[in-house]
Amino acid sequence: MDRQALDELYAGVGSLAYDPLMLLKMVLYQYLKGRRSPATWFEEAKLNEAMQWLGRGYTPARRTWYDFRDRVGEAIDQLHRKMIETAIEHNLLDPAVGVQDGTSVAACASRHQMINKETLGRRKQLLSNVVEGKHPSAEPLPLWVPPTDLGRHDLAERMQRAGKILDERIAKNAEKQAGKRKDPAKIQVSLTDPIAPLGRDKMKVFRPLYTVQYVIEPTSRLIMSYCCDAVATDSGTLIPMVDSLQQIAGGRLKTMMADAAYCSILDIRGCADRGIELLAPVQANTFTEKKKQAKTNRQIPRDKFRFDDARNCYQCPAGRELSYSGRERKQRHGGQSLWESRYRCIPAHCGICPLAAQCLRPGSSSRTIKRLEGQELLDAQRAKMSDPEVQSRYALRGQTVELGFADARNHRGLQRFHGRGIDRARTETGLLVLAQNLLRLDRLKRDAINSANTPN
Ligand code: SF4
Repeated sequence: MDRQALDELYAGVGSLAYDPLMLLKMVLYQYLKGRRSPATWFEEAKLNEAMQWLGRGYTPARRTWYDFRDRVGEAIDQLHRKMIETAIEHNLLDPAVGVQDGTSVAACASRHQMINKETLGRRKQLLSNVVEGKHPSAEPLPLWVPPTDLGRHDLAERMQRAGKILDERIAKNAEKQAGKRKDPAKIQVSLTDPIAPLGRDKMKVFRPLYTVQYVIEPTSRLIMSYCCDAVATDSGTLIPMVDSLQQIAGGRLKTMMADAAYCSILDIRGCADRGIELLAPVQANTFTEKKKQAKTNRQIPRDKFRFDDARNCYQCPAGRELSYSGRERKQRHGGQSLWESRYRCIPAHCGICPLAAQCLRPGSSSRTIKRLEGQELLDAQRAKMSDPEVQSRYALRGQTVELGFADARNHRGLQRFHGRGIDRARTETGLLVLAQNLLRLDRLKRDAINSANTPN
């Protein structure tokens, strides 16, 4: 490991520090054992022989471990990058193919402390009454009010931050189309970790969470790139991951594999602009299929309508024309947007059509088809993914990326972040990736030695 990044964390300040490389070794060992709490590292450094051996007898104070946890985040990206570059140099890794997937991880925040704007306002008022001594002494304090002045000050600050984030979420909701807009009273924020978005985890529990992304090289199964973001979905993460991976891999990435959540028009276009082949199905995940099957009154699907690019119209299965009737801007992730055009058949044709019962919605007089700008990219991607040769290459995806998260969840304890806030969640993700990669590199090196020593 390149220790320069670690030494810089402690350079020029305070008294002589513990050797950060020793501390990192001990922490990575703890991560492999699924122990991510600095308080546990403190105990383990005193009691665990492996820790004593790794740290040459170091027994730092509890505070030192917490301090190290908060400082090391700045160096992790550099350490990870150096590790991947070294693996490429030693031919342990070919960065031409990357497989991306994501998983949600519960934030270090209670799911019982999620409140809406009205409750937040009420609590702010009560807390300020308590701090200013205006709260009637006969009235008992609610349990959420901290007993100390320091705790109350801390809570007031978090409430302030939560209020700003809640306002942003309400404003974003107001920009959505009427049909997709939520009741503002149902928009909530977590008081324990206001930055964490709210969403459903793998167990379908609604809670504050962060989303972790891995890009794994399918042969070596090393994690080439990773990130942890304050988002509740995977959409919009593909292109930033491609860009960060290209920096690490020196532009040698040629193919990305991912599931349908990473295959929007913007993703396909972004990959094409960068000269990357994207292998990902278009809306073919089981959730979409189940939703389609659940619809009892399914209309004739859009792919039965033929688009005529030259005349800018659709032709329906009955041979009628659906002509262009207008367009509107559709918001996409990252502040991007796409035009969505509408094509409509005239009611006189639909009214006498023998296919009307299967084609029209109940109460509708004519059929409308919507087409997004760049729809031809999705159609081409769908056709490409139906090719058996592409399907056999794509089969590699499921065999690799899921293993990385299965290992993280089941063996390294990535069920919930230990530290509060996005910075600590990022640090924990980075440390976990370093630990997983070190273990994998060790296995690859041993396999290489064994195969060299095996007689033909
Ligand atoms: S209902 Fe209208 S759009 Fe649908 S097939 Fe008949 S004519 Fe075509």
